[in-house]
Amino acid sequence: MYDVVIIGGGPAGYVSAIRCAQLGLSVACIESMSDQEGNQRFGGTCLNVGCIPSKALLDSSQRFYEANNELSKHGIDTGKVNLDISAMMKRKDKVVDQLVGGIGGLFKANKVIPIQGHGKLLSSKKVEVANGNSTEIIEAKNIILATGSKPIEISSAKFNDTNIVNSTGALEFSAVPEKLGIIGAGVIGLELGSVWARLGSEVTMLEAMPDFLPMLDKKIGKEVFKEFTKQGLKIKLGCKVTKATSSKANVNVEYDEDGTSTDEVFDKLIVCVGRAPNTENLLSDDSGVDIDDKGFIKVDDYCMTSIPGVWAVGDVVRGPMLAHKGSEEGVMVAERIAGKHTAVNYDLVPSVIYTHPEVAWVGKNEEELKAEGVEYKSGSFPFSASGRALATDESVGSVKVLADKVTDTILGIHIFGPSAAELVQQGLIAMEFGSSSEDIGLTMFSHPTVSEALHEAALAANNHAIHIGNRKR
Ligand code: FAD
Ligand code: NAD
Repeated sequence: MYDVVIIGGGPAGYVSAIRCAQLGLSVACIESMSDQEGNQRFGGTCLNVGCIPSKALLDSSQRFYEANNELSKHGIDTGKVNLDISAMMKRKDKVVDQLVGGIGGLFKANKVIPIQGHGKLLSSKKVEVANGNSTEIIEAKNIILATGSKPIEISSAKFNDTNIVNSTGALEFSAVPEKLGIIGAGVIGLELGSVWARLGSEVTMLEAMPDFLPMLDKKIGKEVFKEFTKQGLKIKLGCKVTKATSSKANVNVEYDEDGTSTDEVFDKLIVCVGRAPNTENLLSDDSGVDIDDKGFIKVDDYCMTSIPGVWAVGDVVRGPMLAHKGSEEGVMVAERIAGKHTAVNYDLVPSVIYTHPEVAWVGKNEEELKAEGVEYKSGSFPFSASGRALATDESVGSVKVLADKVTDTILGIHIFGPSAAELVQQGLIAMEFGSSSEDIGLTMFSHPTVSEALHEAALAANNHAIHIGNRKR
């Protein structure tokens, strides 16, 4: 009998397994994903078909775009730059394989037992593992369910793996589609839409909601929309796709926009309208684990399910579907099993959209604070006033700091601009320590850095930014 058995080896499951082992618990991690040769692959969606391959392509495509469109401004004449898509894909696959292989090494070093196959929770903390024709039953004092999520499919545009694809298919096109349609202008749509637009696709995004990225601070959201439209992404809001018909050559998409029915032909269509928790054949009828009406496994604040000793973490439970959120939950559960009192601070989960520029935020936005009746102050600083941003030709966007009007505690940080993902993390550390905006204002920042924009926004919240006019003294 193990101390812990984990079903699912994505960033929630594998990180939890390593932490369990570090704490002296005997732990096995069951994973069903394998390559074409049948070798087990850990890392889940994130490493194999999510965070990592998408970032590899975002980076490569940005270099291609810059070589073609930006370098001449710096006096660098490259002549015509050619694209070798197969080499670009190979680089992406190499990065993925290196990281996936790395988990095997970490498991070995930490004595985590890998078990290949599909895990199913039975009653009384028993797990059935099916691998090909064989099945085995293993037992543990604690079970952690970390089976992640899968793309949502819509009936009007069913995946066919050739020209109507989900995010996984969109990471593997062998040629740049001339006309690319995307259903859903969310995080995946914007990241993968940016990849293919930079490589030359004409991208049209069909978004059902009337508002663009409603989770963003409204003012920042407007800047983001304007910039992405300028970059060539045609984002159509309030669109209802009624039918997608695929032929060998292309996909015809019918949609209603402002009450008018339109159709458009695309070479490829990506459907990225969200992800659903993955509990397929995971729970036996008598497992006793409760699921909510959207299919998520029900858990308390510490990720315990309705059965004591059975836990669930990552995309398969409530909260944002983000790798770092799942990993922190995995660590928390491992530590609680080992008798510690760890908790996840769900108020401070950072979000990033890895476009160019990046969008990043943490904490509350102005609209949320207004709705909650919180009195706040706000300071913004545009990158167009940052010396470093201008020197690097990255002056689009701004930083906004929101702080409590009375206590000055920082309540939210919203960034659209260069290195936003890294910059928001600086603010988040300050927030985790309960800092005020004055604390950031009193901190010395290196010059010239884009980080100075965070410093200036914090100063602006107290009406004494140096490099912009202040509203009042
Ligand atoms: P998963 O990573 O989905 O892992 C679950 C694992 O469980 C899988 O390996 C699966 O094979 C296995 N499994 C499922 N059922 C069973 C079973 N019954 N038995 C055995 N094994 C099973 N998040 C970010 O934070 N940053 C990003 O930049 C980012 N980019 C993304 C880009 C894309 C294109 C996509 C699709 C997602 C992205 N995400 C990103 C989201 C991120 O990938 C997920 O939030 C994260 O992978 C969730 O981790 P998890 O461990 O909960 O689940
Ligand atoms: P999402 O929720 O970000 O966006 C889906 C979009 O599709 C929404 O804007 C929604 O209104 C729209 N939509 C839903 N149904 C529709 C329909 N029938 N027609 C048109 N539009 C429709 O989901 P996603 O982009 O699929 O990403 C899935 C998850 O993966 C997200 O929760 C995200 O957190 C995670 N992810 C994170 C990152 C990152 O952290 N950078 C990157 C990629 C994915």
